[in-house]
Amino acid sequence: MTYDQNNIFAKIIRGDIPCNFIYETEHVAAFDDIAPQAPVHVLVIPKGQYKSLTEFSAQASAEELEHFHHAIAHVIKDKGLTENGYRAICNTDSHGGQEVPHFHMHILGGEKMPPMLVKS
Ligand code: 5GP
Repeated sequence: MTYDQNNIFAKIIRGDIPCNFIYETEHVAAFDDIAPQAPVHVLVIPKGQYKSLTEFSAQASAEELEHFHHAIAHVIKDKGLTENGYRAICNTDSHGGQEVPHFHMHILGGEKMPPMLVKS
């Protein structure tokens, strides 16, 4: 499957859709989720066209990987999550329940998280 140039995060990176970035470099952006599931719910995304963690881990440059991890560290500190912790989630493809086909990491915190998985 090729990268969908019209996915919502591609539009945000291009500036087609306004978005207030919490943190940004030439390789990465972080912004609040539009439908927060916790008091803190930030999405960290690479600006490169990677559909999933699978692609990003295998294909990103050392600089892209470094910027991505620094962005996560920045968000954790900036949002005051160092003391009590947080949850990082990366839904991947159909079994992972990924809705937006541009790799993103959810950073959730600000309260105690419920159990991670609920089996139906
Ligand atoms: P996924 O299910 O793919 O892991 O998560 C996609 C996330 O993107 C969801 O939490 C959803 O609320 C968020 N989202 C979808 N559209 C937008 C948008 O236009 N702006 C922002 N900031 N977040 C969005």
